[in-house]
Amino acid sequence: MTTIDLPLLPLGKGRDLDAERGVECPGDLPAPSDPDLVARAEAAKAALGERLFVLGHHYQRDEVIQFADVTGDSFKLAREAAARPAAEFIVFCGVHFMAESADILTNDSQKVVLPDLGAGCSMADMARLGQVEDAWDALAEAGVIDQVVPITYMNSSADIKAFCGRNGGAVCTSSNAEVALEWAFAQKDDAKIFFFPDQHLGRNTAVLELGFSLDDCVVWNPHRPNGGLTVEQIRAARMILWQGHCSVHGRFSADVVDELRVAHPGITVMVHPECTHEVVTRADLVGSTEFIIKTIEAAEPGTSWAIGTELNLVKRLADAHPDKNIVFLDRNVCYCSTMNRIDLPHLVWALENLVAGNVVNQITVDVETEKWAKVALQRMLDLPGKTSKD
Ligand code: SF4
Repeated sequence: MTTIDLPLLPLGKGRDLDAERGVECPGDLPAPSDPDLVARAEAAKAALGERLFVLGHHYQRDEVIQFADVTGDSFKLAREAAARPAAEFIVFCGVHFMAESADILTNDSQKVVLPDLGAGCSMADMARLGQVEDAWDALAEAGVIDQVVPITYMNSSADIKAFCGRNGGAVCTSSNAEVALEWAFAQKDDAKIFFFPDQHLGRNTAVLELGFSLDDCVVWNPHRPNGGLTVEQIRAARMILWQGHCSVHGRFSADVVDELRVAHPGITVMVHPECTHEVVTRADLVGSTEFIIKTIEAAEPGTSWAIGTELNLVKRLADAHPDKNIVFLDRNVCYCSTMNRIDLPHLVWALENLVAGNVVNQITVDVETEKWAKVALQRMLDLPGKTSKD
């Protein structure tokens, strides 16, 4: 099967009209300078009352997170939405794949709204269904398909989750990746895992948690014939890692870790497992956003921390813990640009439309995709309770 695939959305370039989908808001998008934005958001929330539930991802802007009824990582937020069946509208201040997961886990009468449709995820966009199906066919031709178990990170589109569900695989989060990989290796004799879309989470988990070597891991490049691999490499591999990464966590570098250790003797370096293997192996602690938050909350006053995750979260942690020295693990500003597309004007626009009876930017997952994505999610929920870095 030949796939003509979509490129990553070139935000702001204006060549692909679909790339600016979120800009075209029916009605008026409030001006960012409108001094009444906070009051307008408060009024719209009050008017909607219990019919509304606003979710805010940890990487979201302060101006938006102040209106969240609950904050968390993507999986926690989807579960929170599912636990509020009375809420008619779930406004998801996150990115597209998160809103899809919320739609999958909520009931049919609940409507999930993403305030800006341009809020995608560059990592999720790096694994498209057509590319994954082509790779699956190539693994069959290499004669290894009966050994392969597909595992996808939560940060993937609904159709990739459904692909894993249909093909005996599961979803994992950064908190339970170790347990998910152990489960997958136990599913077949001489199993190989095909891991999407974040090569770093897959590699870091396999090598640092499960004891595989870097040579056990190969990277599947979807833009090269046969993933850029020989049949021998595919047959020898235990982990086949999709060539995807997070554009935020991929920025952190080992030399900044070294610099900060010199500048702040005794500093503890804590990073997210989406960082490169080089950075993760230089860090003192590795874990999910929830792990990072809990660790800082439990830290002694006067301790020093360098944190490698999205800047909005690091800044909020620094503001909330002035008794601790918290620095960012990058020389430059490093926000998630797509997450940050959800700003206060878009939130106000979405809420006021709901008040007026217009459901805008609703995210829906088709029935067949939802069915199989749920299978993959359920396999994750059925995993033993142990989480490596929760
Ligand atoms: S931080 Fe990375 S993985 Fe998370 S939404 Fe942004 S690009 Fe995607």
